[in-house]
Amino acid sequence: MDKREKIIGQRQAFLYPTKVAYYREPLHLVKASGSYVWDDQGKKYLDVIGGIVSISVGHNHPRIKAKMRSMLESDAIQHTTFLYLSEYMADLAQKLSEVAPEDLNKCYITNSGSEANEMAVMTARVATGEQMMISLRHGYHGGTNVPLSLCGHGTWKFAAQPQAAVTHAQAPYCYRCPFGKKRESCALECASEVKNVIETTTSGKIAGMICEPILGVGGFIEAPLEYHKQVYDIVKSFGGLYISDEVQTGVGRTGKNFFAITDSGVTPDIITMAKGIGNGAPVGAVVTKEKYANALKGKLHFNTFGGDPYQAMQAAEVIDIIRDEKLIENAHHMGQYLVDGFKQLQKDFPIIGDIRGRGLLLGLELVKDPVSKEPATAQTVEVMENAKAQNILIGKGGLYGNVIRLAPVLSINKKECDELLHGMRKAFENLK
Ligand code: PMP
Repeated sequence: MDKREKIIGQRQAFLYPTKVAYYREPLHLVKASGSYVWDDQGKKYLDVIGGIVSISVGHNHPRIKAKMRSMLESDAIQHTTFLYLSEYMADLAQKLSEVAPEDLNKCYITNSGSEANEMAVMTARVATGEQMMISLRHGYHGGTNVPLSLCGHGTWKFAAQPQAAVTHAQAPYCYRCPFGKKRESCALECASEVKNVIETTTSGKIAGMICEPILGVGGFIEAPLEYHKQVYDIVKSFGGLYISDEVQTGVGRTGKNFFAITDSGVTPDIITMAKGIGNGAPVGAVVTKEKYANALKGKLHFNTFGGDPYQAMQAAEVIDIIRDEKLIENAHHMGQYLVDGFKQLQKDFPIIGDIRGRGLLLGLELVKDPVSKEPATAQTVEVMENAKAQNILIGKGGLYGNVIRLAPVLSINKKECDELLHGMRKAFENLK
């Protein structure tokens, strides 16, 4: 029995059945560098999904490797909690408050995005003294209790999942506008909807709203930039806190600012992050204003591994690398280049119904017919398989699994973008 078969057998025998692998022949990735990963047969792939939008500065970045090596060689402490002093957690908190918008200078460091969102929602609830949270249909905020109650996807929700004190607004999904409008002529009905949801489904008092600037799991649904400003004003007018979930959109991925919500000119009350901030290390974080963090004063809250030395060092280094290598600018230019390339592709393959996203967070929504917009779910699976045959690893998402998700490393270069565009052309050509 080869290693792959052994792993597949172990997964079937010992792991929860909720853990489903990509591809008919699941891949066993064993090595990675920069934009590329290798499988156990030595086959090299251009990695355009980076875990799931987790690799930001590139796999095994030399600066991070050097720091890890030096920590290992000097027997640096691997685990210590915040009950002791640690330069790594303290440095990371300072750097996060420096890259966060003004006034957001209090951090809570976690191991994941779910935990960060748990903490953010608790902060909003404690600070306002209210319970009710607004989230979006098609939104996703993690797999633990509160984030699953906020979730806007039937596929991810369980019957055991209580949904207390959460209400969901329609998503700003322009390609499938829930109000039947066209972006060019709409009045941002999706933003006014938030006011209506608060007025009709809550007591009129709320703890806040959580919103992804671009809905990741939902299939990179990109709200119009003005949407967030209007919604922010509505949420504030009802006394709530605005939480920007930047687990996928953060760390410069949208090619303009360190956090995507800044692209909309909004300074939220709380930002959460994970994935890219650790570049593969398990790190999540919350940043908020001092007054909201202070609302939790007097109680204890513990997170055993949050901010551990190796993880915190990696996240702090990610922040420096993004600045030093000008990766936000690169994400903007390469993102533009890819969008232009995909627009060309769309001319030849009408199955590409919509191209959306910003910077290096790009989605292609596949439809059976551009007029009916019937989701091309099975074909999306085929495109993924075909791309793999071209040595390109892409992701997918969306309620109907019909959105190809592309989130290459922020340091991707033009040659690699050409490789991606060429491979995707072949993947669409080879659709039966
Ligand atoms: N928020 C968003 C926007 C996410 O995409 C995810 C993960 N897909 C999470 C939160 C949860 O992060 P984690 O899986 O690290 O708990």
